Order: sequence, then C-alpha cells, then structure tokens
Amino acid sequence: MVRAGLLEEDEYGQWTLSAAGWEQAREVRRRNRPDHGDEFMRREAMWEALLAAGGPGDVSAGLIRDLGIYAGARGIYVNQDRTKSTVAPNGIALSFLHTGRSFSDELTEDGVLYRYPKTNRPGDDKFEVAAAKAAYRSGLPVFVVGPGSTLTKRIVYRGYVERFDDELGALLITFTQDELPPPPPEREDENPFTLTDEASKRTYSLRQNRPNQGRFAMKVFQRYGTACAVCGLDVYGLVQAAHLRAKKRSGSDDERNGLPLCANHHLAFDRLLWAIEPGTLKLASRHSGPDLGELGISKPDLTHLKRKPHDGSVADSWQEWKKGQPDLLDTGT
Ligand SMILES: [Zn+2]
Repeated sequence: MVRAGLLEEDEYGQWTLSAAGWEQAREVRRRNRPDHGDEFMRREAMWEALLAAGGPGDVSAGLIRDLGIYAGARGIYVNQDRTKSTVAPNGIALSFLHTGRSFSDELTEDGVLYRYPKTNRPGDDKFEVAAAKAAYRSGLPVFVVGPGSTLTKRIVYRGYVERFDDELGALLITFTQDELPPPPPEREDENPFTLTDEASKRTYSLRQNRPNQGRFAMKVFQRYGTACAVCGLDVYGLVQAAHLRAKKRSGSDDERNGLPLCANHHLAFDRLLWAIEPGTLKLASRHSGPDLGELGISKPDLTHLKRKPHDGSVADSWQEWKKGQPDLLDTGT
C-alpha cells in the first residue's frame, strides 16, 4: 500500500489513506454499492434534457447521441465506464434500439417485447444480455429508441426491464414515467385466476396493472412455448398470443386465458370456426364445416401442451362458440 502511494504517514505518525488511497477506496465503494444512486440521477438528467429539447417524440438521432442516451451501432447500449461494477461486470444496459429485426407490432405505447440480440458477434450479444439483466436487477430506468415519423427522426421511451426469459430469448420493457414496483411473485399459477379485466384489476399487483400488451404475449409464450397450439407452426412473427375470452368481452390478460396461435388459427378461433371442448381439451369444428382438416388444424386436442389453459377460460370460450352453433344447442354437450 505504501509503495503504491495509497497510504501515507500523517502529522501524528499514523498511517492513513493518501489522496490516491481515498480515491481508490471511494472507487471500490462505488463499484460495490448496490443502490446505483448516481447512475439513477444521471439517467433522470438525460430524460429531463430530452424533454427540455422538445422530446421524447420526433427528435434527431444526433440529439440522442449528444445526450448520451445511445451510442455505437449495437441493439443494446451499455455505458461500461459508468456502470461496470462487481455486481454488474458487463455494466448496466442504458438503452435499447428497436430495429428492423423486431416487428413493429411488438413496440406499443405501453412497452416492448424485446428479442435478445443475435448478431454475428455472439460474444457481444452475451455481454449485452447480461447488461440488460443487470438493468432488471438494479431497478434502474432504461430507454428504448424507436422509429420516429420520418426516417431521420426517433422517439425515446423511458421504462424498466420488467422480466426476461432465456429460453424465449426475450425481455419485456414496460414504459412508465414513475418508479416501477418490485417484481411480482414467481409462482403465478398460485395467483387466483381471473377471467375478466375487472376481476384482474383487483388482484394483480401494481406492476402487473401497468398496461403492456407485450406482457400478455411474453407470459403466454413462457407458459405454452412459441408454436401454434393447434398446428405446430413455430415461426417468429407469425404466432400470436390469443385470448380465449376475447379482449372485447373484457377477457383478462392472465396467461391462463391465453394460447399461442398462428395468425390464421387465431382469426379462425375468433370467428368461432373451431373450439376447445372442456375437460377433454378436444378440438371441435362446426358441423356445417369447415372441418379441422380444412382449417389446417393438425392436433386432435391440447393434451400435447405441457401446461394447459384454465378450465374457466376453456368453458367460457366453449359457451361462446356454442352460441354460434344452433344445431348443437339441444344436444346437451
Ligand atoms: Zn396454427
């Protein structure tokens, strides 16, 4: 320590930290401090500056770079110098670029379902994902930079990384100007099931209450996988998170009220061309046709899913389907 100039003898003959020693001690403390207070203030200052400059909509890419919100050419920007620490060895992600690789419908006013980067530099991808997870753990706000109204303009959203899933290769960012409450409990199946919106407003945590269409999609894909539940099609961008009790009938965003369906089978389900029989989970089509084969449905039932939708949602959608099948009404099924 003495040789490194970190300790010096003071006027009372005691060894004490030199100016350089104090600096190093402060640095060690800063790197190990979990509350990231300075970084939080820095991010808030960036946001204030962006608003003061007329943002967050339709601002120039140059302004975003000048303010330090985004730099470089990667999807996830990390200011390593400022955020690298022992608890976040890859730094803490600051901003996410919403590029052409993502589909535009995954970015809404409420948030974004953001796919992990998959570039020809897998090492960098890994570091960026680690930095995104550090943003989740730190509770620091992040920015999402999306396309503006013209090619040269951008829009910036402020939000929080709310959840991530390695198997899915995606993370969810919810946009809000406020602080985000702590994460919801892990074991969601133990939460009371809610079929309708109104009921879910009473039982969901504050965090879950924040609107974010991407949240429902992410939870549905986490629960059932990303393949269409009735034909097995598994192509990114073509499979959607469908509501069994539809949104227009106040269906809840509980993932147990959902099912991954390709765009065709989603539309066919909403048009009551097929349904799921309660109990057996067998798939049924209209007696007047088209039959399951004509609809391109290749699964006989939903028993192949490792986790099933909620009985309440299946029964509700079955009732709705039967209303459109006058020939079934008297059969007692
Ligand atoms: Zn399908």
